[in-house]
Amino acid sequence: MSKRDYYEVLQVNRNASETEIKKAYRKLAVQYHPDKNPGDKKAEEKFKELTEAYAVLSDSQKRATYDQFGHAGMGSSGGFSGGGFDFGGSPFEDIFGDIFGDIFGGGGRRSGRGQRGDDLRYNLTISFEDAAFGAEKKLKLPRHQPCESCSGSGARSGTQAESCSTCRGAGQVRYQQGFFTMTRPCPDCRGEGKIIKDPCPDCRGTGRVKQQRSISLKIPAGVETGSRLKLSNEGETGTQGGPPGDLYVVISVEEHPIFQREGQDVICEVPISFVQATLGCELEVPTLDGKVKMKIPAGTQTGKVLKLSGKGIVSLQGYGRGDQLVVLRVEIPTRLNSRQKKLLEEFAQESGEDIHPLGKGFFDKVKELFD
Ligand SMILES: [Zn+2]
Ligand SMILES: [Zn+2]
Repeated sequence: MSKRDYYEVLQVNRNASETEIKKAYRKLAVQYHPDKNPGDKKAEEKFKELTEAYAVLSDSQKRATYDQFGHAGMGSSGGFSGGGFDFGGSPFEDIFGDIFGDIFGGGGRRSGRGQRGDDLRYNLTISFEDAAFGAEKKLKLPRHQPCESCSGSGARSGTQAESCSTCRGAGQVRYQQGFFTMTRPCPDCRGEGKIIKDPCPDCRGTGRVKQQRSISLKIPAGVETGSRLKLSNEGETGTQGGPPGDLYVVISVEEHPIFQREGQDVICEVPISFVQATLGCELEVPTLDGKVKMKIPAGTQTGKVLKLSGKGIVSLQGYGRGDQLVVLRVEIPTRLNSRQKKLLEEFAQESGEDIHPLGKGFFDKVKELFD
């Protein structure tokens, strides 16, 4: 199930320029395009792989993330990875409009009526507990909103954008090119389908203005560092009535002073004295739900792991909960008064152990005894 390296897929160097990446993709995409290889499953797979690689490497932010974290950095939900590349979705169309518009002499603008807004990424740091139990967070993000003066049309209030006569408002013109019936953005309206004669002064004809927006986000229990939450249509507003992009919230979880996480389990190291370990005791152990009493059996060795069932992290899928693993560390005393020393000497004698000479060697012996 391991994925091929995106650079390998596109057959480019890791330091390839944007142009080189685009060139490489074009060449291979034409070669493996499904229209050219009807019924060829291998070509289809290859084409999907190419498109996915290109989607990431052509986006400088995604590329940087990929360079740093590899496929793991591409997140586990939504977007371009995880459950497979979303073939029918708009990223595909965007890339295609972009690439083929470019190859076959488009104006460099994406096709369609208005442009889809960009996807936005928001890095959110949350506490260990919020990751374990879920939380609701308010996010403030700057993004473009539809301009109120012109209701997002881009045309001055009271006027209207006129339908483009070249493409009759479609925004695209069709033509035949080899195997393909291609469409490309209309050169007259640059793919918008309409022409604004009198642009709105508040948004300068773009139909959107920049604003601070706050949205509330429900973080599900069980997220971890690198988890990616997709909020459909919460990304950048499209231009001139184009659909909005999506918002991706990328989670990082703060370290906890006493808990560590391994999958759904919580690991916690708890120190106990060698007397507690030897004789057994009842101990109060911290858990995510508060303190819990735990029985430590007599003769416990350092490093022993005891399990508190169901005290771990809730599964992201919503069922079940991990365990807490309590790792016991037996502490050897380093400062003893003379009576304590005497008692231990007696203890050793009782065990038939030769502990002389006293002094330095004494502690070593204790260590040997309990480690
Ligand atoms: Zn047009
Ligand atoms: Zn406006």
